[in-house]
Order: sequence, then structure tokens, then C-alpha cells
Amino acid sequence: MRLVLVGPPGAGKGTQAGVIAERLGIPAISTGDIFRANIKGGTPLGQEAKSYIDAGKLVPDEVTNRMIADRLSQDDAKNGFLLDGYPRNSEQAEHLDKILSEDGLAVDTVLELQVPEDLLVSRITGRRTSSKTGKIYHLEFNPPPADEVEHLTQRSDDTEEVVRDRLAVYRDETAPIIDFYAKQGKLKSIDAVGELDEVTKRALDSLQSA
Ligand code: AMP
Repeated sequence: MRLVLVGPPGAGKGTQAGVIAERLGIPAISTGDIFRANIKGGTPLGQEAKSYIDAGKLVPDEVTNRMIADRLSQDDAKNGFLLDGYPRNSEQAEHLDKILSEDGLAVDTVLELQVPEDLLVSRITGRRTSSKTGKIYHLEFNPPPADEVEHLTQRSDDTEEVVRDRLAVYRDETAPIIDFYAKQGKLKSIDAVGELDEVTKRALDSLQSA
């Protein structure tokens, strides 16, 4: 299955992507994670992306599109994938269609995680990642176990100030692709408010009826 996960920052895309992809036996590919790994490793790609990410803006399409084409050409993505955080605007959606169609392939389903905007800011500013396990927690809604506490880190773009910009980018640039996929009959939308397991179940049920 070639699946795209769409939703505003703080909707739980990263958390759900990991669980859903594991259940479906496909790799979860997160453009945000790839950028962050490159920033950490000090690569040229990381250096190029950092200022955009810190400002809550999209990394230029030319950079992102090249990176995703390269990632999708790797062996583990040949039989399906779950994209988390890509595409993020109409140009990227068209680029994805183009690179897949060159191999006679297409996106099968787009799953939209819906969360009311007033919940997103607190979900993002309370988010922490374990540098040891990579797991994502929330200080209030999904607290980490005691042995994870010392490993918690906060993403540099998860501050209240940057979050507002990221939400505006989502509204202006990303939300229109939801319509693009709805017109292709590929869109499934679920309510992503609730317990983690509950939301996963909604997601898998909705994919089964795809
Ligand atoms: P995420 O981890 O998906 O929230 O992404 C974190 C940041 O990485 C975003 O705010 C953007 O700056 C950048 N980013 C991730 N995916 C993309 C994309 N598809 N296009 C452009 N920038 C992206």
C-alpha cells in the first residue's frame, strides 16, 4: 500500500505513522525525521534545511522533492510506504504523482488526521522525544516512564512562537492538497482526538474500508 498521512502539526502523525506502518509491514518515511537526522549529522542537506525548519517554514520544494525521490527509490520502499509529512503543498503532491507514475504506480490512499486547531498548540509545546528510544511523549497527555525522563528532548521548532507559523503554513499551503486527493477519490479522514490506541484503530478500520 502506498499511503500518505496528512494532518496539522500536533495531530499525532509521527506517532501514528510508526504504529500504522508497522502493522501494515511498510516503512514509515518522515521528511521531518530525515531533515532532523541531517541537521544532527551536519550534512549539507541539514545545513540547507535548518533555517527554514527553525522558522517554521517549508524547506524549498527543489530540495525536498529531490530528497524524497531518492528515498522512494530505495529497496524497502518498492512494495509500499507510508509518507509522513510529504507532500506538504500542491507542487509536492504533483511531484509525487509524477515520480510514481514513471514506474506505473500511484498513491493508493491519503489518510487525514483531524484535530481542532485549539488543541494543537498545547499538544505541540508539551511534546518531547526520547533521545534514547526515539519515542514521542507528551508531558501531560502521554507522560514518559520514569527511565525515559532524563533522555527527553524538545524539538527546536516546537516552541509556541514557531508553532503559530507552522499552523499558518499548514492552513495556507498543506490543507489544499486534501482537496486535491479528495477529487481523486483517495481521501479518508478520521477524528484524531482520543487515546493513541483508539486513534490507531480508527485509522486501521478506515484503511480496511479503502
Ligand atoms: P515535521 O516533523 O513533519 O513536523 O516537519 C518539521 C519541519 O521540517 C517542517 O516544519 C518543515 O520546515 C520541514 N519539512 C518537513 N517535511 C517537509 C516537506 N514535505 N516540505 C518542506 N518542508 C518540510
